[in-house]
Amino acid sequence: MSNNREIVCIVCPNGCRMNVQIDANNKVSLVENALCEKGKAYAIDEIQFPKRSLTSTIRVIDGELPLVSVRSDKPIPKEKIQCALAELRKIELKAPVEFHQVVISDLFGTGVNIITTKGVMNRT
Ligand code: SF4
Repeated sequence: MSNNREIVCIVCPNGCRMNVQIDANNKVSLVENALCEKGKAYAIDEIQFPKRSLTSTIRVIDGELPLVSVRSDKPIPKEKIQCALAELRKIELKAPVEFHQVVISDLFGTGVNIITTKGVMNRT
C-alpha cells in the first residue's frame, strides 16, 4: 500500500508543490513536480529523515536575566526534539554567559551542538 503527500519545497523561493508517493515502509517511491534534484532530496529527507531546528531557553543563575535563549547549530532528527528539551530543562548556567557558548556538545551523538544566542551578564 502507498499513499501520497503534498510537500512544499523550502529550498529556494520557487516553493514547488511536490507530490510525493510513499510506500508501506515509509520510503519515497516517487517525487513529482519538483523543478530540480534539490527538491527531490528535500522531499526524501522530509519523509524518511525529518529534522527540525531546536530553539528554547535555559535558566541562568545570578544573571541580569533569569533565562538565556539557545538553539541547535544544525537541525536535529525530529524524534529527538522532546528528549533534547528534557535535557535542556535540567541545565542551569552560572552567569556570566557568553554569546554562542556551547551548552551541550554532540547532542545524543548527532554532531549537533546547542549554543546560546545571546550573552547574559552577572546580576549587579
Ligand atoms: S524543487 Fe528546486 S526549484 Fe523547486 S523550490 Fe525546490 S529547490 Fe527550488
